[in-house]
Amino acid sequence: MQKEKLMIAASKNQHKIQEMEKIMAAMGMHVISREDAGIPDSFEIVEDGTTFEENSFKKAEAIMKFSSQTAVADDSGLMVDALDGAPGVYSARFAGEPCDDQKNNEKLLRLLENVPDEKRIAKFVSVITVVFPDGKTLTARGECPGRLLREGHGCNGFGYDPLFVPDGYEQTFAQLPAEVKNHISHRAKALQHLEKLLKEKDL
Ligand code: IMP
Repeated sequence: MQKEKLMIAASKNQHKIQEMEKIMAAMGMHVISREDAGIPDSFEIVEDGTTFEENSFKKAEAIMKFSSQTAVADDSGLMVDALDGAPGVYSARFAGEPCDDQKNNEKLLRLLENVPDEKRIAKFVSVITVVFPDGKTLTARGECPGRLLREGHGCNGFGYDPLFVPDGYEQTFAQLPAEVKNHISHRAKALQHLEKLLKEKDL
């Protein structure tokens, strides 16, 4: 019999939650927001890890402990070859706090000003962690390779989407329809991996 897979999303980022909802619904899993689960906005989780794995686990574990329900967290970011993998885990606050997508994109473009087209290689990374009330934990990583443009194009998505063209495409994530992004993105790949792990472990 199909198990009911309901999880609380640890993120406050509505874009991320929407993407996770869409991708997971097709897999028979359902996420509810922190707000709908009654977790107060003031409940902050400090993301002071140095890897996506650490931060992803921290978020899922904190929400599970607070709610005693299964929690799922995505920690993600952009890794740029010419910047030795930066902004990486610091993607959200690359240009400082409070987090600002436009400022982050402007900073990225400034730093890459003198980088030639063929070296503007980057990848998005997503690490999804599920923590169950009994403490069992599953972690799945997904990556999406691509390249960075010299100016933003498109208004779908969020974050660095207007600058990022995934391999095999000519448009940015912000130009491509959401269904395409949700099929090929780092988040989609991590969730596909998670789905496999859940089946293998019968969770
Ligand atoms: P987190 O909430 O600490 O995981 O930070 C994720 C940050 O990485 C976001 O604020 C974006 O700047 C960036 N990011 C992650 N996934 C995406 C994506 O799918 N598109 C664009 N930017 C993303």
